[in-house]
Amino acid sequence: MDVDALIVGGGCAGLSLAVHVVAAARRAGRACPRVTIVEPRSEYQRDRTWCGWRFEAHPFADSVTRRWSQWAVQEGGRRVVRGSTRHPYEHIPADRFYAQAQALLATAPELRLVLGARVTAIAEQGGQVVVETTAGPLRAGLVLDGRPPEAAAAAEASAVAEVDLVQHFVGWEVETAEPCFDPGVVEMMDFAVAQTRGLHFMYVLPFTSTRALVEATYISAGALPLAQYEADIRGDLERRGAREFKVGFREAGQIAMSTRPARPQASPRVLQIGLRGGLAKPSTGYAFAAIQRFSAALAERIVARPGQPLVPPAPRPAAAVAMDRVFLSYLERHPGRGPGLFVDLFERLPPDLLCRFLTDHGSPLDGLRVMACTPLAQMTAEVVRSRARWLRRPAA
Ligand SMILES: Cc1cc2nc3c(=O)[nH]c(=O)nc-3n(C[C@H](O)[C@H](O)[C@H](O)COP(=O)(O)OP(=O)(O)OC[C@H]3O[C@@H](n4cnc5c(N)ncnc54)[C@H](O)[C@@H]3O)c2cc1C
Repeated sequence: MDVDALIVGGGCAGLSLAVHVVAAARRAGRACPRVTIVEPRSEYQRDRTWCGWRFEAHPFADSVTRRWSQWAVQEGGRRVVRGSTRHPYEHIPADRFYAQAQALLATAPELRLVLGARVTAIAEQGGQVVVETTAGPLRAGLVLDGRPPEAAAAAEASAVAEVDLVQHFVGWEVETAEPCFDPGVVEMMDFAVAQTRGLHFMYVLPFTSTRALVEATYISAGALPLAQYEADIRGDLERRGAREFKVGFREAGQIAMSTRPARPQASPRVLQIGLRGGLAKPSTGYAFAAIQRFSAALAERIVARPGQPLVPPAPRPAAAVAMDRVFLSYLERHPGRGPGLFVDLFERLPPDLLCRFLTDHGSPLDGLRVMACTPLAQMTAEVVRSRARWLRRPAA
């Protein structure tokens, strides 16, 4: 066996897991398992921005470049500004994260990051896993597969009617000639834009009064031409009075908002991590915090039994998965009511409770309070009915 664990993909989940393994070994006073990460990129650049509400401590705190304790949502004439000092909204630019992860990994000689190589095949053979890579084969006791999820998986037939929405977005970091942004308030969801191409909102991270990441976001069945998002961003800047602006960093993404369960783990020796392992919260598209939580728990198990097969921690709490199913079913059936639903949630719920709900930290009582202030109870009944219909179907 060449290594105890081989991580396929040095993206957010792959690098996070490796960093958590080093930390867990040091905490436990044990030898660090031999871990190799195989990543196709030959160098890391800023390719995305991670934001989320702070809950647990994680090893990438030094990569946080900005925190906001106030955020706003709006639809039509209704604007709601809320906030939390206990759970500020934190910003991590990807280049900072990649650099910090590499620096932390460089402190552990057992960790190896192989850049510029791609995994082409993974096969179990007699108590180990043989991984073919463009840099040659590697034998590992355990493989953690963090490649992006395959689109085909989402198309697989499912027992119940599943929701298959996509959150798709394009963001520009702009510098405007005049002050246009309130640097104290994140514009979380501004629905005061055309709703004709799907549920659509602008998301604005204001770094200063003249610099912000402005993102056109849609929740619908599929992506739009690039020109549409760009026109949305220009329109938003115009509304804010930005006559002149320069565009710097750009990002784009498509995140599945599906009720399909994550593919079951194929084997206790080949585990899926990251988005491939079902770690994105489908009703919001957020994954960074869940990746940190999952990586911390998985790392403990890897350190306890290096190179051995294992049962991974549950990716997300079952109650949160059920709530997301209800929430997404509602959005799919009633996209026109989406803006009102989101603004109601921000307006009626105590901000800390809403943060817990949005980050899978909610208690059963939190769940009931969310249900009580939205039409979600009605949707729950619809989901229960659709499941009952499936159970009563004639056998094939
Ligand atoms: C633009 C953008 C912004 C986002 N913003 C947020 C946010 O604000 N907050 C939040 O919580 N979440 C956000 N997300 C969602 C999520 O956190 C990220 O997508 C996150 O990067 C997912 O981590 P991952 O490790 O699963 O995937 P990735 O980080 O995409 O890593 C997958 C890795 O697999 C590698 N790979 C691909 N093929 C192979 C192969 N054959 N062999 C080996 N390696 C391979 C890739 O090169 C890549 O490094 C955002 C996503 C995007 C795209």
